[in-house]
Amino acid sequence: GAPSPVRPMDAPAAGLSVASGPTVTGHYVDGVLVEGARSGGTPVHDPATGELIGVTGHAGPATVARALAAARAAAPGWAARPLAERMRYLDAWRERLAAAADALTELVVDELGLIPEFARRVHVGRAVGCLEHLGELAEAVLTPRREGTSLVVREPAGVVAAITAWNFPLHMLVSKISSAIALGNTVVIKPSEIKSLAAWAATRLLAQVGLPPGVVNVVGGTGPEVGAALVAHPDVDMISFTGSREVGRSILATTATTITRSVLELGGKNPALLLPDASLDEALPGVLGSCLFNNGQVCGAQSRLIVPRALLAEVEERVAEIVDRTVVGPPRAAGTGLGPVVSAAQQARVSGFIADGLSSGLRLLRGGLGLPEGLPASHHGGYYLRPTVFTDVAAGHRLAQEEIFGPVLTILACDNVDDMVAVANGTRYGLTAAVWSADLDRSIAVARRLNAGQVVVNGGAFNLAAPYGGVRESGNGREHGREGLAELTEVKSLQLPA
Ligand code: NAD
Repeated sequence: GAPSPVRPMDAPAAGLSVASGPTVTGHYVDGVLVEGARSGGTPVHDPATGELIGVTGHAGPATVARALAAARAAAPGWAARPLAERMRYLDAWRERLAAAADALTELVVDELGLIPEFARRVHVGRAVGCLEHLGELAEAVLTPRREGTSLVVREPAGVVAAITAWNFPLHMLVSKISSAIALGNTVVIKPSEIKSLAAWAATRLLAQVGLPPGVVNVVGGTGPEVGAALVAHPDVDMISFTGSREVGRSILATTATTITRSVLELGGKNPALLLPDASLDEALPGVLGSCLFNNGQVCGAQSRLIVPRALLAEVEERVAEIVDRTVVGPPRAAGTGLGPVVSAAQQARVSGFIADGLSSGLRLLRGGLGLPEGLPASHHGGYYLRPTVFTDVAAGHRLAQEEIFGPVLTILACDNVDDMVAVANGTRYGLTAAVWSADLDRSIAVARRLNAGQVVVNGGAFNLAAPYGGVRESGNGREHGREGLAELTEVKSLQLPA
């Protein structure tokens, strides 16, 4: 059937509010919303207070098997529909997401502890935004090409198993589902169990658009249970994964048996290079903004600031000023610049890195262990950290090599631009980087030398239509843009008579 028209949404009645007590998220299987079980699920806490606000319901093996069978059964019919028809369902989802922006923003603030303006602009904005140019990009990918006597076409991969991380739960769910089905695939997706409330709200909105049953299936649960079952299943044609390098490795180990192709979007330890002529006024707020983006939890965070040694003292002074101006506090309080990290586990993990920096004698410029000063007592149960900067860190130190995934910056000093490039390229990761110079051509020339899938040049804006992904241990393949969408297809050459 055709997608049903948008109706104004009563958010609480649609299960989009946490005001009425912990929400238990469910599953969407073969066109039916299935309630999740309260017992045995993963608790979802409000990072601002530590309060329980939801439970991620876990799907059992039978539900996962039903989801995969439904996706398989729906695949040929869905692939046969014209792109424009497939896009009509996604346009209907986009309209519903946009109409629910207020409720979705509140959910993102509740479960991730983000400042409301940021949650709306970035989390809800990207979820809606990634649907905006999808039709044109998909059309470009799906247009056949002549190559001599051959016709090169792209077919949908088939059944896509998608698995997401907790740091952008709403955008990742929308983007993985929409890219896959726009190109004619069907999907079984497992959202992160750590943060599932906004993703569940978006799933409920999708269930209203009248998609044929089985085209999209959403199953809740943990990685070792549901995630691993999807990855190992022989009837999955392709895996789209966003998460840690460790789980990425386990996916590659598992798929060594089935040869299932995977696109892996993993971590990063991303460098920001300040060339000697860079404007510190522009660059330093940009680098700090990236490092503290999403409360310091973004794969592309610029967490290594690489500067000419001659500028180190001035950079330190200015970075310290910016950190001193950043108020850490409850996300909804006026004036807050940085909220908590996402969970008690994450708070402990990041604190472990800070403790390691202190005990190994790194020079602490700002921050350190413990709760930030001035945090109201009502929020001492939240997962707050002090934004922390270590300076003049040796390039090989663990804090300059490992992804911390929290509000921690390391500053590294180099003697010349070649050294800066060598230090920038001197980790096992290669996701993003940034270069700052007064001369755009100079920045571009240095950007071309960096091992990264995406480089921010002189503060250039993030573009949802550009391919994203990493090299080395930051992953395989790309998401977004033409190249990312092409990953969700298989190439076929038709040899035509001459
Ligand atoms: P994670 O790897 O712990 O979990 C990611 C997902 O994998 C979750 O849904 C989890 O349930 C699932 N999972 C866990 N074990 C599994 C298994 N054995 N088999 C299958 N699935 C399994 O990562 P996280 O803590 O949720 O997210 C943080 C990480 O994600 C960071 O390393 C960050 O850099 C990375 N990340 C990368 C990108 C990118 O685009 N490159 C974007 C965001 C986050």
